[in-house]
Amino acid sequence: MRALTVAPCVADSARLDDVEIPGEGSVLVRGLVVGVCGTDREIIEGEYGKAPAGHDRLILGHEALGRVEEIAGDTPLHGGDLVVPMVRHPDPVPCASCAAGEWDMCRNGQFTEHGILGRHGFAVEYYRTHPHRLVRVPESLGLLGVLVEPTSIVAKAWEHIERIGARALWEPRRALVTGAGPIGLLAALLGRQRGLEVHVFDRDPTGIKPELVHALGAQYHVGAVADVGADADVILECTGASSVIWDVLSRNARSGIVCLTGVSHGGHRMSVDVAQLNRNIVLENDVVFGTVNANRRHYEAAVDALERAEQSWLARLITRKVRLAEWARALRDEPDDVKVVIDLAA
Ligand SMILES: [Zn+2]
Repeated sequence: MRALTVAPCVADSARLDDVEIPGEGSVLVRGLVVGVCGTDREIIEGEYGKAPAGHDRLILGHEALGRVEEIAGDTPLHGGDLVVPMVRHPDPVPCASCAAGEWDMCRNGQFTEHGILGRHGFAVEYYRTHPHRLVRVPESLGLLGVLVEPTSIVAKAWEHIERIGARALWEPRRALVTGAGPIGLLAALLGRQRGLEVHVFDRDPTGIKPELVHALGAQYHVGAVADVGADADVILECTGASSVIWDVLSRNARSGIVCLTGVSHGGHRMSVDVAQLNRNIVLENDVVFGTVNANRRHYEAAVDALERAEQSWLARLITRKVRLAEWARALRDEPDDVKVVIDLAA
């Protein structure tokens, strides 16, 4: 069957291959769609990624939606269920966090990840897995279930923000999101679902991004955070851009929480006043933290958030659907792209 594969750390080696059904376990899943994200592009550019042991090539794809084709044994899942496979596997040791089901917080870094690090991904027509690796998606979400994985990232971010906020009296009113890509827009959605006043910053002055932000009842800003000076209780940084990170670190409110979700690339040097930054953080009780990946609790929170969202708004996030045979088109940036998905079933 067809799969989109790559030779990890070899630039532009992506191609369609004929492969055996990957994975193991009592569930056979038929792949429906996979979302494309920045991590996939980095893997294709040869910057990142690792094939499973004994393999030269890695099947791509970690933002997946599929349907249970066959299932055996005693499990709450049934044939025909819509499912999302979780990306990260706990390390084999396992560390205390992985042993507690919090593999997203793995301490020793020996975890594996589907489509990224040491495990085949889901850009393939069929794959096998174990029932406990799947999250059931209500039929009402349909293809919007492909947004569960990126939403799980922001569900974890918001969960951790709230846990940090609970250190003292916390009555957040205003949230600021930098970057109106899929992660930023989903972070804004979850902020609005919490009843917060949400401000989203991005570079595009026109097009679908401001429309999507306004449709959430949030405010859209072009330019630097420093220019607007919104006194935000919560800042979700979703660009990974050095100058934006510096802006949010130096401009957050007293007792503010800054959550960093974007992965930066090296080489962007800036001269910054560390002493001033330290003074701001200490004298204002600020918290700056990073977050990555998600565990089952966050996937389930993501399903819940997507069910409560306006379905027509979610549908507008998926701006292009490309057939597997035309996968290269999915990886090219086009104007007004938000989330591009590859259709595995077409
Ligand atoms: Zn671990």
